[in-house]
Order: sequence, then structure tokens, then C-alpha cells
Amino acid sequence: MKLSKKHLKTLKEAPNEAQLVSHQLMIRANLIKKEAAGIYTYMPMGYRTVRKISQIVREEMDKIGTQELYMPHANPAELWKESGRWYAYGPELWRIKDRNGRDFCLAPTCEEMITDLVKNEVSSYKELPFAFYHIQWKFRDEARPRYGLMRGREFLMKDAYSFDKDPETLHEAYMAQYHAYEEIFDRCGLTYRVVEADNGPIGGSNSHEFSALSDVGESDLVYCENCGMAATVERAECRDDVPVQEEMEELRAVFTPGTKTIADVCDYLKIDVKKSIKALMFVTYDIELNPADYVCVFIRGDRELNMIKLVNALDVPEHYIEFADEEEMGAETGIVGGFTGPIGLKNCITVVDSELVGTVNMCAGANQEDHHMLGVCYGRDYTGDIVTDVKVLAEGDPCPHCGQPVKHTKGIEVGQIFKLGTKYSESMNCTFKDEDGQDKFYWMGCYGVGVTRTMQAIIDQHNDKDGIIWPVSVAPYHVIVTVINPKDIVQMAVAEEIEAALEKQGVEVIVDDRDERPGVKFKDADLIGIPVRITVGKFAAEGKVEYKLRRESNHELVTKEEAIDRANALVKAEIYGK
Ligand code: ATP
Ligand code: MG
Repeated sequence: MKLSKKHLKTLKEAPNEAQLVSHQLMIRANLIKKEAAGIYTYMPMGYRTVRKISQIVREEMDKIGTQELYMPHANPAELWKESGRWYAYGPELWRIKDRNGRDFCLAPTCEEMITDLVKNEVSSYKELPFAFYHIQWKFRDEARPRYGLMRGREFLMKDAYSFDKDPETLHEAYMAQYHAYEEIFDRCGLTYRVVEADNGPIGGSNSHEFSALSDVGESDLVYCENCGMAATVERAECRDDVPVQEEMEELRAVFTPGTKTIADVCDYLKIDVKKSIKALMFVTYDIELNPADYVCVFIRGDRELNMIKLVNALDVPEHYIEFADEEEMGAETGIVGGFTGPIGLKNCITVVDSELVGTVNMCAGANQEDHHMLGVCYGRDYTGDIVTDVKVLAEGDPCPHCGQPVKHTKGIEVGQIFKLGTKYSESMNCTFKDEDGQDKFYWMGCYGVGVTRTMQAIIDQHNDKDGIIWPVSVAPYHVIVTVINPKDIVQMAVAEEIEAALEKQGVEVIVDDRDERPGVKFKDADLIGIPVRITVGKFAAEGKVEYKLRRESNHELVTKEEAIDRANALVKAEIYGK
């Protein structure tokens, strides 16, 4: 391919709104162009990489026997009402109407569609187990589309769905996908961690997230170097501190003027923050968005609340809960902003973190302006409507499995797999006839890869100050032949000879024959990150060219034959070598 005949408009600078290096590079290298918030055109170079990643995903899905099909974007609302997610998914679900006023949504994921399909398509145990997938543009009206392709509103995703007769065979299907995901992300050149994850609004019982390690990732991960425990912070269980054994003191109110925060009150009363109880107030909504319940959460003063654990404990969707207006809530429940404690509340659900069970002589708000209580004892003075672990496993806390201090890191969630169990088959009444003649619900799993997010995660992990450094497997082209002087007939002839020889071997070549200064061509080659650069210049007449890898700084003068052989060998080794 001759670059002089193609469109490539690289930029020296990225727009200010691109904060992440990976986002800046995608714009500067002309891979994507923004059309609206979270909505992009994929330019020719960018789209080649999208297709390469898709193809890797496709090959690994096919290898484990998952069958490719293609389901529609437009999903009838009825299906989503059947599963209950028309309401539970909230404003992220992109809802549309047809000309007759019928409700549809643009698919953010396809559990409903596939369950309905299988219900009508498969009936006998003889066909089990089976799994389908497609690679489809998904729509999610994200609250904060940002960071380029990381959080788009229209993005490419592979979603697969497995159907099994029992939990044991579901586990086999799940593990097959798990290993396929390892292959996919290895082939994409990513450094990643597999962590236990929360099932979130998709539901089900078990989940793993594949997270590409990155300082700019939006997934908070926690892991233990001693025993290998790894989980998202949302999901990670905590080991409760054992309560200190003391005589119970009498409960008493003390004057604590203006001490609205835990730090203030502990300072004022000269007590350890671990002897204090922190209160957080929320209101939940029902599906018609009317306020449903006030919720008061109590955790130890030094702990942070884990919102995901809270919504799981309350069994409400994440977007149907928000911080309460303390004045309004106070009138109903008796809380007093800044001075809220667990004793004497009414008309609200109290959630008490499990670590408070058995604690004595704690300090908590007195539900009275400028006052706190001392001598607060769990059991004697208060309990909770819900008592469970709702706190964050912080860096340095003991690992829930082995007790060693845990570490935190960040990642970009590039894939997630879920055991759904019978959640969708039951709600949508999707059954098969088993050997014994009984109708049984399928045991389902679902498995997602964010293809376009993966593309940006690769760039995030593979770049330097000059631009992208694509792994060979996903590079838009494998080799760039930079012609120093395209008007020189000999140089062009050598470039074309190299191009033809490599293309014959299946190596993808782009020839930079543009009428530009060599410096401009080198800069562009580095920016777009083609793995191998072969420069044809003044030694062309002697059959010699310069061979350079994008990821290395040195270059060598070699014969054109050697350049061809080396490039071919490298591409073969890195794509098919394993
Ligand atoms: P997140 O927690 O980041 O919002 P999710 O858990 O909602 O993601 P899934 O429903 O598991 O995402 O979707 C499967 C995959 O699709 C994710 O692992 C991720 O790689 C990708 N993905 C999800 N949302 C987006 C988005 N808004 N933009 C780009 N990719 C996305
Ligand atoms: Mg996820």
C-alpha cells in the first residue's frame, strides 16, 4: 500500500480534552475522530486494529466451540420488561421509540435477546451444552463518557452466552471462556490481572474481571502477594477486627460543639478514631423514581463505605440510591447532620457494618445538635436491620484469606465473565426438556470483551514519548518502508521489491512514498507505531537498507534480502510463534 495514495492526517498536538496519553495518541495518530461525547469514527488505521483485535477474539471463541451469530441492536422493550432490566438498568439504557410509539432499546448487552432466542430455538437436552457469541457495537448512555474509547457510549464488544444443564457443566463452560480470555489478552500483548469481581446489575453468582494494569485505569484492584488473592475493591471481602474486650461503660451524652466530622470529634474528645462510629445517610427510590426508603449506614470511623456492598445488601440497583438531604431525612427519622448515631432512629433502614458487632464503649452521634454519645455498645444500645460487611478493604488491611497485608493497584477492565445461573432462564421462562422428560431451566454464563477499550489499553501499555509501539499482533500494518527520496527511481524500485516480497509472505506493508521531508516521515512512523521500519535511502543502489524495530532504539544497515527475511521471521514468530 502506498501512503501517497491514502488518507493519513497526523497531528502534532491533541485537543486539550484528551487527558490520557493513550487518548492523545489515538487522535494524533489519526486512529479515531470524535463525533459526539463517547461516539467516534474509526479512521482507516484505527479500524484495521479494531479488526485485528476482533479477529483474535473470534479465533479464540471459535477454538473453544462458541458459535458466532449476529443479533440486532434494536431490542423490543418487552424482552427487557420480562427480565426486569427495563427498569433496573436505569438511564444507561438507550431507549428509543419506533414510528408507532413502540419502545425499544439499543442493546447494551444481550442476555434478554439470546435467552429469548434459545427459548424458541432449542428444546432438547440432546443439543446441550452450547454457546453463542457475536461481536457487536453496543450502546450505553454512560453518565460520564470519557477518556476516549475507555468509556464510550457506542463501543465494540464481544459478548458470548453459554447454556448448560447444571452448575457443574456451567463451571466447565466458564473455565473454557476463562482460558480463552487469557489467550486473547496474551495475544493482544497486554499485562493484566484476573481478579474476582462483583456481578453487578447483570446478576448471577460468580464473576472474574480481566484488568489491564494501568495507573489510569478506572478499576480499583486489591491483591495479596502471599496467597494470590485478587479481587476488585468493590468485591473484596474484609476481615473484621476483633473487638477489644472491655467492661461496658454507661451510655452518656457529651457536648461536642461544631464537631461535624469524625476527625473533629475524635480530636475534641481525644479518642482513637477506631473507637468512633461514622454514619452515612441515603435515600433509595422505587422503579417509578419515587423515594422509597431512608437508609442509615454505620461503620467504624476509620473505615470507608463500599457502595457496591451497600447496594447488594439493600438489593437496589446502583442508580436508585443517593445521599439523602439530611434536613428532610432528619424530620422523618431523627438523624441530625454531623451528629447522627444509631440510637433512637425511626422510619429508616439501619445498616450496620459487621465489624461493629461486639464493640463496646464507642463514640457515636447523639442525634442532637452539638452532641455525641460515649459508651455506645452494640447489642445493648443498638443493632441493625441489616448487619453485614459494607466496608472497603484498604491497602495494608489483612488479606481475608491469609491475613497478610494487601496491596492496591489500578486496571482497565478489558473483559468480564459471569456465571449467571438461572437468573435469566427463570425470569424469561427458558427451559429444555431433560432426559427424564422434565422441563428444566438452563444454567447460563455470559462473557464480555471490550474490543475498543482493549485497543486503548494496548496503547496505554505500549507507547513512548514519540508515539504508539504496537505489538505485531494488532498493529495496523506490520512493516513500514520509508522511502527517503521517492523521486529516486532506484529507491522506489527497492521499496517496491521489499513490499512485494513481504506481501507474498502475508506480511502487511505500507510504503511511505509521500513527498515529505524524511524527518516528517520518521516522526509519523513512530507516532503510528508500526513495529518494523525499513528505510530505503542513499544505499539503495548497493542493495542496502536500514532495518529498525519501533520498540528498539538502534538501527542497522543490512541487505534488502536480510531486511525482508528478518521482518518476515519477526512477524511469523510474534503472530504464530506461540
Ligand atoms: P464498567 O464497570 O467499566 O462500566 P461493565 O462492568 O459495565 O464495565 P460489562 O457489562 O462487563 O461492563 O461489559 C463487558 C466489557 O465491555 C467490559 O469488560 C469492558 O471491557 C467493555 N465496556 C463496558 N462498558 C464500556 C464502555 N462504556 N466503553 C467501552 N467499553 C466498555
Ligand atoms: Mg464489568
